[in-house]
Amino acid sequence: MPSIINEPKLDFKDVLLRPKRSTLKSRSEVDLTREYVFRNSKRTYTGIPVVASNMDTVGTFEMADTLAANSLFTTIHKHYSIDQWKEYGASRPESIFDHIAISSGISDNDWTKLTTVCDALPQLNAICLDVANGYSEVFVDFIRKVREQFPQHTIFAGNVVTGEMVEELIIAGADCVKVGIGPGSVCTTRKKAGVGYPQLSAVLECADAAHGLNGHVMSDGGCTNPGDVAKAFGAGADFVMMGGLFAGHDQSGGDLIEKDGRKYKLFYGMSSDTAMKKHHGSVAEYRASEGKTITIPYRGDVNDTVLDLLGGIRSACTYTGARKLKELPKRATFIRVTQQTNEMYT
Ligand code: 5GP
Repeated sequence: MPSIINEPKLDFKDVLLRPKRSTLKSRSEVDLTREYVFRNSKRTYTGIPVVASNMDTVGTFEMADTLAANSLFTTIHKHYSIDQWKEYGASRPESIFDHIAISSGISDNDWTKLTTVCDALPQLNAICLDVANGYSEVFVDFIRKVREQFPQHTIFAGNVVTGEMVEELIIAGADCVKVGIGPGSVCTTRKKAGVGYPQLSAVLECADAAHGLNGHVMSDGGCTNPGDVAKAFGAGADFVMMGGLFAGHDQSGGDLIEKDGRKYKLFYGMSSDTAMKKHHGSVAEYRASEGKTITIPYRGDVNDTVLDLLGGIRSACTYTGARKLKELPKRATFIRVTQQTNEMYT
């Protein structure tokens, strides 16, 4: 018989962080740098664990250069050619590779490209294995194969939304599991397939499962403002990945469009018609497109957005009395709310 989970599951919009007594004098005192030792690769990561998504409109080389200079992380999208990777590797300092991962799907072609690029660029030390549905057995097998071939590379893998599958991916060789099905700004999975899990609860539950095994989690999707990013960290995310918040900048991909004297940039989901036509020539008959294509107002240099984002996270830490980002989940108490903001002037 079909069953129903009656306990409510929550999204970022359903909660606020409760303020707490604090000895911090200013948000500038807050340290956002985290250091993690990954369970399987044994590598140490040091940086601000805010991540640009591996969408081709977001996870570009240009984005990586700018974010790495700010100590943020970029998962580079999987559509760069082997030659483009070689050129990138030859023209960048080795330090940048502490802040990027190469992305890959799980097809034979993906495997060939991944192994070729990793062999050609020994400084590349992190891999992001990305599929829409991280619950399939072939995905778990692929993680095992990548772990065997690259024992010392850090592996990010996803996406899933439940604790038992987080554990399975970590045991198969993932270091950090990506969490999120359906929360994305240009994702239509919840409408097309009726599948998903409210993101705040998914992060809370998956972080608990991962941390029990000394693994890590990356909250992926659903952050609509810096406050949501702070809530994801508060819920236990070790990394927070975003697409929409990094889209529309100089460093993002996507065509620049001018209309009535205003500038816009194209932004689309990686399983949208636009992406499928661009990368595969057409939409495969057996699958529905599960992503939107939109134009968003051009937002200039991503450095300004980074300042705004980090300012918001620092502010959340100050309000909750966390001196470091590391303390935020320990200090976080979420209040369920029926209204986020005063709507009078919106
Ligand atoms: P955002 O930060 O924009 O809310 O979410 C970004 C995330 O949405 C990506 O990192 C990825 O996990 C997910 N995503 C990107 N494109 C698509 C798509 O076409 N369909 C679905 N279901 N998810 C997508």
